[in-house]
Amino acid sequence: MTGSSSQFQQLEKLGEGTYATVYKGRNRATGTFVALKEINLDSEEGTPSTAIREISLMKELDHENIVTLYDVIHTENKLTLVFEYMDKDLKKYMENHGNQNALDLKIVKSFMFQLLKGIMFCHDNRVLHRDLKPQNLLINHKGELKVGDFGLARAFGIPFNTFSNEVVTLWYRAPDVLLGSRAYTTSIDIWSAGCIFAEMCTGKPLFPGTNNDDQLTKIFRIMGTPNERTWPGVSQYTNYKNNWQIFLPQDFRMMIPNLDSMGLNLVQSLLQMRPEARITARQALQHPWFHEITQPTPVLPLADPYQQQIQDQQQKQQQQQQSY
Ligand code: ADP
Ligand code: MG
Repeated sequence: MTGSSSQFQQLEKLGEGTYATVYKGRNRATGTFVALKEINLDSEEGTPSTAIREISLMKELDHENIVTLYDVIHTENKLTLVFEYMDKDLKKYMENHGNQNALDLKIVKSFMFQLLKGIMFCHDNRVLHRDLKPQNLLINHKGELKVGDFGLARAFGIPFNTFSNEVVTLWYRAPDVLLGSRAYTTSIDIWSAGCIFAEMCTGKPLFPGTNNDDQLTKIFRIMGTPNERTWPGVSQYTNYKNNWQIFLPQDFRMMIPNLDSMGLNLVQSLLQMRPEARITARQALQHPWFHEITQPTPVLPLADPYQQQIQDQQQKQQQQQQSY
């Protein structure tokens, strides 16, 4: 921990998440923008375990599709994580730039490619994100997508580690987790990526469940109700019920009508009910749907050209002032 809070000028609030408030900030010395994630420290409880996990994991993860953690500032009653500044999260991006929240397929392809590269890097480094959702994916004006919010992430590979109750937001939660699985596997992030893929195409969350049972029902309605024949071992899960309503699998073409058949093939490989049947991030990146991506991160139109202009101007002025 090297920084001090006075190093940064606190600007407007960017977002409020599950355990922190995030502000835009400006480095007084360099003029560059940062995101300041402030976590209030309860003097009785000490530093929350979510924050400690986030810090130790993110310090290890240096990749173009993972939001960079620059610094950690610890004061008496506050912990501030200083992150690279991003223009918006994917949820806001879809609301502002989508056609009724749906994104152009070219953008979906670029974002999915970058998301999968970020996920692959996490998994290669034995880190599970566990809370992938549009609010936790950040976009900048260059069209770069970076995975953020590692508050629920965990290093895996430690066999006695099991899930606590917190875990992933319901909508992006894998069926095996909803069924009570406590196994640590990279496939839970792959399911979330499949849900995000579908949501970017249609502008609507694929499985917007309200509680554990409703979430499972929403999944079964589209994927079909699993049984021992389609998913050997499914009856062994703690939340398995033998009186589930029986749904047949739906055709994905009906769910995501604007997606081409190669893209549908990819989304189906991500959204497999059986965790071991889901493809890995590495395999997904090899999928022919991505073959027409030539640049690793295609530069997309500015998120908001006018805002960007103001930002650039401010930054320039700031830098000029510095040099006097
Ligand atoms: P929480 O763990 O409390 O959910 P997040 O890290 O997800 O906190 O941040 C909450 C929100 O703040 C995000 O959904 C996003 O809108 C905004 N935000 C977070 N990090 C950044 C960043 N680096 N740049 C810009 N906005 C950010
Ligand atoms: Mg969050």
